[in-house]
Amino acid sequence: MKPVFDRILLKLSGEALMGGQSYGIDTAVAESVAREVKAVHELGVEVAIVVGGGNIFRGVSKSAGNMDRAAADYIGMLATVMNAVVLQDALEKLGVYTRVMSAIDIPQLAEPFIRRRAIRHLEKKRVVIFAAGTGNPYFTTDSAAALRACEIGANVIFKATKVDGIYTADPMKDPTAKRFERISYQEVLEKHLKVMDSSAISLCMDNDLPIMVFNMKEPGNIIKAVSGDLSIGTLVSLNSSATGAN
Ligand code: UDP
Repeated sequence: MKPVFDRILLKLSGEALMGGQSYGIDTAVAESVAREVKAVHELGVEVAIVVGGGNIFRGVSKSAGNMDRAAADYIGMLATVMNAVVLQDALEKLGVYTRVMSAIDIPQLAEPFIRRRAIRHLEKKRVVIFAAGTGNPYFTTDSAAALRACEIGANVIFKATKVDGIYTADPMKDPTAKRFERISYQEVLEKHLKVMDSSAISLCMDNDLPIMVFNMKEPGNIIKAVSGDLSIGTLVSLNSSATGAN
């Protein structure tokens, strides 16, 4: 199988590491994610990962109580560092060389994010895990994924979710919801489809960076996505008008 992408950015939400639990990290799930990443990496694809923190803490959530938003967001960013270290451990146990690069300095644990160094790591075939989001409150790790993907010149963002693409409505609630095979950024924004937050979508749109949305829980899906198999999810790009949901 010949991959159609040279360099991908995989966005994993914190929830993707939670498995069946309602909070925290399931190391068995981290292991299976690591196996999928390894398989793609072995095809020669350069892999960068942005990991979320929603399985532990979100700035805008009940557990933040009446905390100052910025303070709560910093805790959310620290949560992503925990997930990044779990993922690093799982990958290295499989013999994959990795680097964690953090947007907040934690030198004992992770390298600082330096763009040119990140690119060098990728060229040397290390999987790079970006932690601590953008390093700024009031953002999400989806925006971090869009930003880092632009910075490292990724060909595509792989947005791994719980459903197999973008639907006309929430498929968990509405049985008549239909999946789009392709859709434009503009339509995602206009229809308020919940794919990524609007800042992340706008950044991808302005930089012509395609987003592939697919279900991470299906084994083998990252490999299929990397081979350009659109049937597993939804492709968001500049010129694709909505198809597949009619
Ligand atoms: N966060 C932030 N700035 C960033 C990225 C993340 O402040 O650039 C904080 C924010 O509070 C967010 C939390 O970190 O709720 C966890 O990230 P996110 O909700 O994006 O995680 P995911 O939903 O992907 O698990």
